[in-house]
Amino acid sequence: VFGSNSFATPARWYGDRNWSRPRIPPLGLNAPLTVLWQNMPIIALLNGNYEGITQVYEAKRHGDFGLGAFAQLDGEMIAVDNAVYRVTSDSHVHKASDATRLSFATMTHFAPDDAIDLPRGTTSETLSRFLDPQLPTLNAFYAVRIDGRFSAIRARAVLKQRAPFPAFCEVVNREFSFGNVSGTLVGFRGPAYASALNTPGYHFHFLTDDRSGGGHVLSFTVARAGLKLQRIDYVDLAFPRSSAFEKSALAKADTCNGMALNDEP
Ligand SMILES: [Zn+2]
Repeated sequence: VFGSNSFATPARWYGDRNWSRPRIPPLGLNAPLTVLWQNMPIIALLNGNYEGITQVYEAKRHGDFGLGAFAQLDGEMIAVDNAVYRVTSDSHVHKASDATRLSFATMTHFAPDDAIDLPRGTTSETLSRFLDPQLPTLNAFYAVRIDGRFSAIRARAVLKQRAPFPAFCEVVNREFSFGNVSGTLVGFRGPAYASALNTPGYHFHFLTDDRSGGGHVLSFTVARAGLKLQRIDYVDLAFPRSSAFEKSALAKADTCNGMALNDEP
């Protein structure tokens, strides 16, 4: 339940909406630095790298919080509360076994530094106007978790693809609408300059409290919700030794049919 702040140790709790105070990471051996891990640059996914290069158990080693896509784009991945879920294009939610394969995955061990109540009516469009000015910098990644009640959420799940894989912007997906729903948004905020590596701006996946629905978030409107935030100190980025990745023409792949790289995924 938001507001219980049971997640925060007093030393890291800033409270009072005074987020502008920068947290100075204690650099050095054994310092508790936060790491964002991912199995490949997102530009590879956008250009059709949908092979199942990572298994769920490998992703779990790198965190308990994250998002991604399954092999052949067969569903949206959401890792939250010590479980990994798959939302398929038929709108169903499945718990993913450790052996299940992922195409893209980005994970962290979630230990939020800050928490804040979101104003009623906050939307996917107004979130950045509200939150960005309160962040210590826009040049770092953040993990963001929003729990609460939403008056509306629009989400989507991608459809399973067969090789040869089309580019991501050509993939058909299914959209779902939720009204007056309780659940969790799991996501990240990435800096604009890192758009080839991970999604710039806010990228959320949604899961209902009863685990009956979810997906990649297209839009949301908050009825009553709290947000928890964790600043990322390091990115641990893998460059896969798969032939698909090695042969992808990523050097010149900054757009997809004219769609700016930061329009989606
Ligand atoms: Zn997504």
